[in-house]
Amino acid sequence: MRLFEDYACCICRQREASYYCESCFLTFCSSCTKRKSVNYSACEKCGSAHYFDAKSGPPSVCTMCGHESFRLGVRKLVVCPRCLSENVVDLVRKREEQTARLNAITRSLLSASSLMLNVINSASKAKARLLNLRKKGFLHNPQLEEDVLGVYEALSALKVKALSKAERIMSSAASRAALLIREWSPRSIREIEACFEQVEGALRDYRQLVEEECRCLEERLREISSVLDYLDFHRELFEEREQLLAMEASEKPVCALPHVKYVGSSYLPSNKGTGVLFLTTERVVFLKKEGVLRHSFKKYFSLPLAEVELNVKRGLRGYFTLKTDKGTVRFTAPRQVLENVEAYFTLAKNFQANSQLDRSLTLKLESTAIGLSDFRRAIASLIDSTLKMGEEGARSTATPKQRPPPIARPCPRPINRPASPSTGDQEALMNLEKKKYAVEQNLKRLKELWDEGEIPLEEYLKMSRRLESDLYELNVKIQKLKNG
Ligand SMILES: [Zn+2]
Ligand SMILES: [Zn+2]
Ligand SMILES: [Zn+2]
Repeated sequence: MRLFEDYACCICRQREASYYCESCFLTFCSSCTKRKSVNYSACEKCGSAHYFDAKSGPPSVCTMCGHESFRLGVRKLVVCPRCLSENVVDLVRKREEQTARLNAITRSLLSASSLMLNVINSASKAKARLLNLRKKGFLHNPQLEEDVLGVYEALSALKVKALSKAERIMSSAASRAALLIREWSPRSIREIEACFEQVEGALRDYRQLVEEECRCLEERLREISSVLDYLDFHRELFEEREQLLAMEASEKPVCALPHVKYVGSSYLPSNKGTGVLFLTTERVVFLKKEGVLRHSFKKYFSLPLAEVELNVKRGLRGYFTLKTDKGTVRFTAPRQVLENVEAYFTLAKNFQANSQLDRSLTLKLESTAIGLSDFRRAIASLIDSTLKMGEEGARSTATPKQRPPPIARPCPRPINRPASPSTGDQEALMNLEKKKYAVEQNLKRLKELWDEGEIPLEEYLKMSRRLESDLYELNVKIQKLKNG
């Protein structure tokens, strides 16, 4: 029910209020308003407008485009009759603004899901990369499956947590706000604002929760990815030389050491050369670059891993040797490889203990997936039920009287073709004159509204520009017809 007393002007108690003071929360009618004259300048080039006081005077250049000539004028602003604040809004606008604010709240509930979507995408990328490595026989870092699964579990938990937080937000203050907006009257403005503040506070918590969790998960995924990068680096080297390596089904790749240089042997031909040293669970294989351009590789030797004894000499002229019953082979290598070569051999020799042997974990990861559609649907239905409450109410109860739009819509522009002979020029001319008259009337009314302070400056400028251009076009057409 819409009661007059809810809408009555707080000053005269006689008429219906149409303004609201944002500073002292007074609602008042247009007869009780006070008005204040303010000077404004509007740039003649870009139309951007500014208020200025008599002391400072108009600006010398436009801050938006640098143009130097302005249209100057005076406009009457509505000010609050009690506190004289200029911070006064139209009640119809206030209602629209509050409705829009409620919509913004619901949108931001949903937008949190895009953060989660990013994490889900990173997680499924990591999952796909890991599964690919496992398929190719790279069984390193057995904890990787559980790491990725852990991210998936945390994501599911986050979905539940976020949804319950969203439910709490929507069921308390937000639904109260929706209810008040449904029964909207100037009296509930402040209570609605209070609800909004509460909701927006809770919303910040909600976003913070999602953001922090997502950041944390992204961090975990970055760590996982850096391990995967390392494994993929080795995988690519193995895949490039797959045929030369000719690995057995039971043999698993361990690592590939690029840029090592074969410098001599006690039993092999001593033609030096660089290449890649491959370690598998069974063998140590050296593929040496061959040919003029050194683009092709040739298997130089292959030793059973179990029989190889590694010796590393660090330092400026560092090298490492591989010793077997047959004798020794010697390599130099970049510092980083030299530093890690022992660790690589240790890993290869103890690969069993450091690899993923539990196939069921890999399968579990393979069958794990997570989506967001259920979450988004749940949030959407939550929003829907809260807002519907407002909408249905608004339809069933009388809405406050909407003031008529300030002016009639400008006439559609005349169609750009010559009048057909059957209509006759005279009739076309009359139509154009009629339209011209309507546009002129609209312009006049617009100016009055503006002078009375009924419409904001930007709106006035926008509409007057449009009407003026319509008028110009009409005049051109009329002139054309008159000239025959
Ligand atoms: Zn009044
Ligand atoms: Zn006031
Ligand atoms: Zn300008």
